[in-house]
Amino acid sequence: MDLVTVADVRTPSTRDELVFAPGERPLGGGTWLYSEAQPGLTGLVDLTSLGWSPFGETDDGLTVGATCTIAELAGLAPRPGWSALPLVRQCAESLLASFKIWNVATVGGNVALGLPAGAMTSLMATLDATAVVWTTDGGERRTPVAEFVTGVRESALAPGEVLRALEVPAASLESRTAFRRIALSPLGRSGTLVTGRLAASGEFVVTVTAGTVRPVQLRFDEVPGARALSDAMSRVDEWYDDPHGAPDWRRATSGGFAEEIRRELGGSW
Ligand SMILES: Cc1cc2nc3c(=O)[nH]c(=O)nc-3n(C[C@H](O)[C@H](O)[C@H](O)COP(=O)(O)OP(=O)(O)OC[C@H]3O[C@@H](n4cnc5c(N)ncnc54)[C@H](O)[C@@H]3O)c2cc1C
Repeated sequence: MDLVTVADVRTPSTRDELVFAPGERPLGGGTWLYSEAQPGLTGLVDLTSLGWSPFGETDDGLTVGATCTIAELAGLAPRPGWSALPLVRQCAESLLASFKIWNVATVGGNVALGLPAGAMTSLMATLDATAVVWTTDGGERRTPVAEFVTGVRESALAPGEVLRALEVPAASLESRTAFRRIALSPLGRSGTLVTGRLAASGEFVVTVTAGTVRPVQLRFDEVPGARALSDAMSRVDEWYDDPHGAPDWRRATSGGFAEEIRRELGGSW
C-alpha cells in the first residue's frame, strides 16, 4: 500500500549515514512496512543500499547479513557436514508468504519485526544464532536471537539501532534437527512451530515459536526421557492468543510435537 506520510526514502552507502531522524525507520524488504498503515512514519532508510553480503563463511560458522533475502538463504547450497541445512527451507516455507515475498523479505527484517510467527526467528533461535546489533554510538553488541525477540512485535533493539547480521555457529549447522509445525488452515499462519536440535556434544534443545509470544528454549545435556521433557513443557506459560490459535491448543500441540521430536532425535520410547 502507499505510505502517504513518507516524504523521503534515503539510500545510505556508509554506516555514518545510518543515523535516524525522528519519524525515520530502517527499510529491509518492505514487505511488512508496505503492508499496513504506519502512523508517524515520515521517512525510510533503505538498508539494502549498503551492499551487505548475504553470507560469509568462516571456520566458526555462517554469518548471514541482515539484508539477505529469505530466498537467498533458502537457496544456500548444501555443505558437507551441515546436517541442519534442511531446516532453512522448512522454516522459510512456514511463512504465510509466497515466493514473491521470499524474494524481497529480508532475514533481518523478519527477526527485527518480532512476530511470534517469524520463521527466521524460529530458524535462528533453533541454531543458537547471535544477533549482531549496530548501536547508535558507532559500536556493536551481540545478543542470542532467542533473547532478541522479547514479545509480540518487541525486540531488544533500542531506537536507532540496526540489526546488522546473524552469526550461526558451525556446531549448530552440524547438528541434527527435527521440525514440526501446525496452522489452523492448510496455508495459514503458524499456530505453533517446534524444533529440536541434537548437537554432537549430546546437547538437546527444543525451541518453541509461533505458539508462544517469544521464543522459548528448553535445554538438556542429553536427549531427555519423556517425563522430563513433558515436565519442562508444562512449565512453559507464555502461550500466544490470537485468531491463529487458542493458548490451550497451542500448548497441547506443542507438547505433542516436542515428544515426537524427542523420539525422532533418538529418545527412547
Ligand atoms: C502476504 C504476507 C504474509 C506474511 N507472512 C508472515 C509470516 O507468516 N510470518 C512473519 O513473521 N511475517 C509475515 N509477513 C510479514 C513480513 O513479510 C515478514 O515478516 C518479512 O520477513 C519482513 O521482512 P522485510 O525485510 O520485508 O521487513 P520490512 O517490512 O522492511 O521491515 C519490518 C520491520 O523491521 C524493521 N527492520 C527491517 N530490517 C531491519 C534491520 N536490519 N534492523 C532493524 N530494523 C529492521 C523495519 O523498520 C520494520 O519495522 C507477511 C507479509 C505478507 C505481505
